[in-house]
Order: sequence, then structure tokens, then C-alpha cells
Amino acid sequence: MNDPHLPSAGLERPADEPIEPARPAPRRSRQAVVRWGSRVVTIGGDAPVRVQSMTNTDTVDVIETAIQVKELAQAGSELVRITVNTPEAADAVPHIRDQLDRMGVDVPLVGDFHYNGHRLLADFPAMAQALSKYRINPGNVGKGDKRDRQFAAMVEAAARHGKAVRIGVNWGSLDQELLAQLMDDNAKRPEPWDARQVMYQALVQSALTSAEHAAELGLARDQIVISCKVSGVQDLISVYRALARSCDYALHLGLTEAGMGTKGTVASTAALAVLLQEGIGDTIRVSLTPQPGEARTQEVVVALEILQALGLRTFNPSVTACPGCGRTTSTTFQELAKQIDDYLRAMMPAWKTRYPGVETLKVAVMGCIVNGPGESKHADIGISLPGTGEAPAAPVFIDGQKAVTLRGEGIAREFQHIVEDYIERRFGAAPR
Ligand code: SF4
Repeated sequence: MNDPHLPSAGLERPADEPIEPARPAPRRSRQAVVRWGSRVVTIGGDAPVRVQSMTNTDTVDVIETAIQVKELAQAGSELVRITVNTPEAADAVPHIRDQLDRMGVDVPLVGDFHYNGHRLLADFPAMAQALSKYRINPGNVGKGDKRDRQFAAMVEAAARHGKAVRIGVNWGSLDQELLAQLMDDNAKRPEPWDARQVMYQALVQSALTSAEHAAELGLARDQIVISCKVSGVQDLISVYRALARSCDYALHLGLTEAGMGTKGTVASTAALAVLLQEGIGDTIRVSLTPQPGEARTQEVVVALEILQALGLRTFNPSVTACPGCGRTTSTTFQELAKQIDDYLRAMMPAWKTRYPGVETLKVAVMGCIVNGPGESKHADIGISLPGTGEAPAAPVFIDGQKAVTLRGEGIAREFQHIVEDYIERRFGAAPR
């Protein structure tokens, strides 16, 4: 007899076989090497997906820029891009580098060039050397016959100084001559493509032909990273799938002009998660517009969270907390979850070297008995706080076993001590 809970047409009961855990597809790309001093950051190949960011200070302000680069690097950015837009900015770059070196910050700097990069790289060799990678936007290197000459000058500077290059196409500054040509070609098709599809083609073609041109000019193909940034989630997915099918250059992934706050965070996450799961993307940048008063480092925090949520990298201990519902009317568990999360994040810079592997720690803070004990058992350490009407007791689970039950006013403090003891015991004994 038919099971009324199963749809009758075309679907059968699940086969009695294990369900494969989802995991990101393997990537296949060349590997670029970006260096500063003894610091080597690989992008692509078997390297982990790298996190990068960009400053929003005036590059001419050496101290302010160096401080922001340091903050971004300390937040977890493995490369930091600065705009190099004027002779004064170009002149400031070696001083920013010196300042960072004096502060013990060896994060590689990427120079962002538009319109005049060919001149700045020729006129300021110390700047060309202080940067570890150049971003060249093929839509902004000049028009007509100047275009090829100026592009060549930048690529040759990169090859001469041994720097990697990102060919960074952006739909806001797409090569208009190429787009016009492709629109004309499209009009001659018996069945013309949608304008959006022509735009996709222009983005991909601009990046790939520029990369090929750079390789012909002598830049090692491995040292070329490409990007095609757009601001629509589905557009980004379409373009990067096409790019990944068409080349094996390392890919820099990011939704351009993602926006502010929740909107920017969600849009970036939606786009990047789909592509990263498909194995597309070797380095990411989350282009968040900071809200008034928000730290620039928020874009790095979001990038780290995306990679950690997908299981691609592990940066910080994770705190699982239930959303709360009518079964728990107190805010105790929310406060405890936040307190533990803040505490773990604050301690991580010191713990990274003292407790190797601590970033894999999983803590659960749950609001009541419904999912509390179960979720707590899945974590390394979990606490199930009493919900409305439950006895005022909070069982704590360590490595899946109930270890102790906390009661009274000092639950938060005692739980933090339990977490500290666990970290010392489990990660403190690891070889240094
Ligand atoms: S664990 Fe309890 S308090 Fe938390 S969401 Fe589930 S039922 Fe609600």
C-alpha cells in the first residue's frame, strides 16, 4: 500500500545506501606566488583559498594607511590592496612598506592601478618593488593604440620586478571598445544573444585575452590571477562558471559593490558560497561598504566566516547557539553565547601559537532541554541552559559525555573556566 507521506508520482523511498557528505569540489588552477621578504602567499593550485582586503585610507597618508593594513592583516587578511592613483600615492608606497616592516607586519601589498599605472610604475621604481602584486584593470589602461602600449608597460614592469599580476576586469569599467565590437557581432547573428549574455562574453573575453597578452609579453602564466567582478549574484555565478571552464589561471573571486551591512554580507556569501562549493575561486575579497562607525576589518571577518562555514578553512573556534524560542524567555543563553564567542575570538591571537589546533574547537550554548543536550554532545564542550519551567540546572557535556551540572548565579564564569581548562588540557600538550 502506498505511503501517504511520500509523493506518489515519480519518487521512491530513499535507497538504503549512505548519503555522501557534501564537500567543495576540488579546484584545478595554476599557482601564483606572492612574496614579501620571507613571507610567501601562494594563490591557486593546492593552496587554501586566500583572504584579501583593500584599504580605504588615502594612500598618501603613510601612517594611517599602514595602521589600517596592519588591522586588516591582524584580522586575517593574507594580502592587502592599496590604491596607487597619483604620483604622491606612488611615492608613499615604499614608506608604507617600511612602516609595516618596522611594525613586524609582513603582509604582501597589492597595488591597485587605473589609467596611469604604466607611468607610475616607470617613474617610481621603489614603489614597483615595494608592492608584491599589481592589479591591472584592462578597461582602464587607455584607449586605441595607447592601450596595448600602456598595458605592455605595466606587464613588463611586473615581469622585471618579479611580481604577480591580477588582471581585474570589472563591469563598471569594462573595455568599451570590446563591448561595442561584441555588440556589433551579436547584431549580425541570425538569432542575437540577450544583451546580458554579450556583457558576460565581454567580461570573460577581456580577462582572458588580456591574460594571454600578458603571457605573450613574458609574464609567467602561473603569476597571472584573473577576476571578472560584477554586482549581481547570478551574474557573478554565470561569469565565473564560464571563466573556470575556459582557463586554469588562479581566480580572484568577489562580488563588486556588494553594499552595506546585512545586504552586502548576504549577497557576497550567496555568490561566493555557490562558486566555492563548485571549486571555483582561489582567493576572495568581500567588498563591503562599511556602515558609519564600522571597522574596515568587517570585510575580512565576513570572508573568514564564509570559508569556515563551507569547511574550506578553519580560523576560529565555533560557537553553536540555538536561536531561542518561547521555551526560553530569559536572555541568559544569548548573553552566555555572546560572551563565550567574544572571549574565544579575543584570545585567538595569543592562543594560535600557544594552543595549536585550538581553532577547531566547537562549543555549543543551547537554550533548553529540547535540543540542548543533543547539540551539546555533538560539540567538544556544550552547555544546555534551563528553559522556562525547567529545573534551574545547566548540564555541561565534554567530548559527548555529561561532565557536570552547573547551578546558581555563577554559571557563565564557571562555564568559561571549563572551556579554558579544556583548551589547556587538549591543545596545550600539543608539540610546539
Ligand atoms: S533548544 Fe530549546 S530554546 Fe533553543 S530553539 Fe530549541 S526549543 Fe527553543
